Amino acid sequence: MEEKIRNIAIIGSGSAGLTAAIYSARADLSPIIITGYEEGGQLTLTTLVENFPGFSKGVLGPELMREMRAQAEVFGAEFVFGKAESFSREGSFFKIGLDTGDEILARTVIIASGASARFLNVPGEKELVGNGVSTCATCDGHFYKGKEVAVVGGGDSACEEALHLAKFASKVTLIHRRDSLRASKIMQERVLSNPKIVPIWDTVVEKVGGKEGRFSHLVLKNVRTGAFSEFKADGVFVAIGHVPNTDIFKGLLEMDETGYLATDKFARTKIPGVFAAGDVSDKRYRQAIAAAGEGCKAALEAERYLSENKI
Ligand code: NAP
Repeated sequence: MEEKIRNIAIIGSGSAGLTAAIYSARADLSPIIITGYEEGGQLTLTTLVENFPGFSKGVLGPELMREMRAQAEVFGAEFVFGKAESFSREGSFFKIGLDTGDEILARTVIIASGASARFLNVPGEKELVGNGVSTCATCDGHFYKGKEVAVVGGGDSACEEALHLAKFASKVTLIHRRDSLRASKIMQERVLSNPKIVPIWDTVVEKVGGKEGRFSHLVLKNVRTGAFSEFKADGVFVAIGHVPNTDIFKGLLEMDETGYLATDKFARTKIPGVFAAGDVSDKRYRQAIAAAGEGCKAALEAERYLSENKI
């Protein structure tokens, strides 16, 4: 990678990061985008996106993200593969260290590192991800035609996953740690009236079990009675929310108690020259189009900042 001071470094290549890239590249600011390992962000984990304006027949998530990247490249955006693992000040610049060993110095930074699915963090879970343990029904649901699956969680995500899976699976068991769902009323009604979806209340997962490298069962605990049981299924979908990817900014940038970055309405963080956009700072909407809008705002604000501060 060429050693030079960049005008704008964008951390993340989802809807927010790529929109920021398009705007800042078109403004001749030659942005560099650190892609992260989930290149294209969460939309690459979905199939048909029906609510992104401009596509009356819908658009495939991965295709939309490929097009966004291509659009940024047309105007000269540069992409570097890797994960940002450190962030610091270096004189009047910002320094971002990548896990590849590369370092980027930039006058402004747009943080668009998004949010990742939260895991249960119980024994056996991580080892079986991709082998019967999933966090994305839209991605993996079709593997479970006629099979029995479990979904863990009680929010809108869990309900959405359960409803999607019910189209393929013969039975969907929704395992929730309390006796009522957190999800919106309409989602609750859809889930609880679906004959294929069976809830198990007041129950937590203690262990994820496998056989020959593939998921086979869960060890469950009833939190009221304390009783343990074994629950066999063909797959399990963990849908207990998301965590923003903000670890490297802890102690440097203001964030709420769950790690979401604090910004003002101009996408500015407390550090002048550092902006944030998309799911990394938005736990309310979490929509691709909202993230794109914020990416646009952040790029325009970074451009304004550069023109007002001759760094
Ligand atoms: P969420 O609302 O935070 O719900 C997370 C669920 O997982 C809760 O039911 C929680 O239980 C449970 N949970 C959390 N940690 C757990 C653990 N360690 N073990 C077992 N269960 C655990 O997250 P979300 O469902 O991803 O939704 C996030 C936001 O996106 C919400 O504002 C939601 O409305 C929105 N969203 C909307 C839609 C839609 O409208 N179609 C779809 C998806 C998401 P408790 O209830 O006991 O806390």
